[in-house]
Amino acid sequence: MPLIKASCSTCGDVELTISELRVLVCSTDGTASYNFLCPSCAFRVSKPADKAVVDILLASGVAMSFWRMPQELEEDHHGEPISYDELMDFHYQLAGENLFERLTETGTAKED
Ligand SMILES: [Zn+2]
Repeated sequence: MPLIKASCSTCGDVELTISELRVLVCSTDGTASYNFLCPSCAFRVSKPADKAVVDILLASGVAMSFWRMPQELEEDHHGEPISYDELMDFHYQLAGENLFERLTETGTAKED
């Protein structure tokens, strides 16, 4: 089985089988990357790939997957971004008891 040499930022050069690599193409902007689980340190490694690298990997038999950016990025947003304090308030609202009852009683969650 042919081996492909790739580079892990921690371990340096590693050799992988075709099935250990995957090409990922973003269907939103066309950028591509490949990733693999490093056989030495077991970290997931992801590297950007230009068209030439993608073509070589695909010609070698590496599997390809497509993904897209979340559609929320294309939405119009109004108002200020949420603050850290608002995020923490939301966290405590979710962590509090009887959230469902508080939401259905008032329409919005209130602190106890
Ligand atoms: Zn590694």
